[in-house]
Amino acid sequence: MKFKTQISLICIFLLISLSYASKCQAARNDIPSLCYHQVEPKAGGKFSLSTEKFRAQLEYLKSRNFVTLNSDDLEKIFYHGEKVKENSIVITFDDGFKTVYDYAFPIMKEFGFKGIVCVYPRFIGSRNAMSWQQLAHLISEGWSVESHSMTHSNLASKCDKPDQEKAFLDYEIVESKKLIENKLGNKVRFMVWPYGCYTESALEIAEKAGYIGAMTVDGGASYEELSPYLLKRQVVYATDNLNKFLIRLGMRALKISRQFPAPGQVVDELATFSCRLDELSDYSSEKYVLNAKLTGKKVNFAFDTEGRMLKADISSKLKPGNYFIDVYLRDRKTGITCQNGWLFTVRGGGIKNNY
Ligand SMILES: [Zn+2]
Repeated sequence: MKFKTQISLICIFLLISLSYASKCQAARNDIPSLCYHQVEPKAGGKFSLSTEKFRAQLEYLKSRNFVTLNSDDLEKIFYHGEKVKENSIVITFDDGFKTVYDYAFPIMKEFGFKGIVCVYPRFIGSRNAMSWQQLAHLISEGWSVESHSMTHSNLASKCDKPDQEKAFLDYEIVESKKLIENKLGNKVRFMVWPYGCYTESALEIAEKAGYIGAMTVDGGASYEELSPYLLKRQVVYATDNLNKFLIRLGMRALKISRQFPAPGQVVDELATFSCRLDELSDYSSEKYVLNAKLTGKKVNFAFDTEGRMLKADISSKLKPGNYFIDVYLRDRKTGITCQNGWLFTVRGGGIKNNY
């Protein structure tokens, strides 16, 4: 082979591998989802972003060609086999604050984005909340309005009172859907858990009530094979700087199965948790950094490469409450981190909210 040919072959090889590497960095076919609460000029509180900060985040999304999905789009993906388009994103606003209508909506519109508002009827029409008319206007602009329960209760809070639980969940899940649909004439498709807390009973009731899915604040990004009742969302906090925002946004989908405890399971106590990392056929500690956390705290775990099972020990006794399990996988070469989180509850009185 002549020297010149060799050089050009090397060049072609370099070009191909470079474009492959940049593809790994940029393209994503999972569905990241953000959970906002308030946007206002004078931000205050944990969940209230300044309009400046919010605008900067949307500017970033626009610069990376992100396209927003509303509930119609999600239904097409999870029920009608539509492929997730590259750089799709879901932008949600919980509770129904008036500041979303006054400040977030015009900025979203400027960027050509549409959002999903998750409201609880007890709040709507009060001083700091949107009115039903404003919500109807958002729908006419391509936004979706979904249920965030009736009163914003922690839906795991009656898991130790079986005689009261069904009526409680019916009111929060079934009645809120009917009420919103009556007021707005829309189709309420998603149940959006207050405080991100759900149980297996709540999931069952939501499915029977005709919801086509549910939104959590479980970590990671959603993907086509994920149950639409376990959609992931990343909460955006007021204190997040752009770098922190990019870390949350950058969490890719990690496909897992056989979770123990199951998402939403209520247990009396727990000593271990486990799941299968379906796609991790080539695990080695040189290639990947694998991590497991329980409500933000690192735990000891083992990974069996043959069965692809991760098993973690919980060293301390867990108090009654809601807990998040998170599994992270970082590819050392690309720097990309994938995450999959889910929630379970330890039964007992005095269940406190996570935030
Ligand atoms: Zn909320």
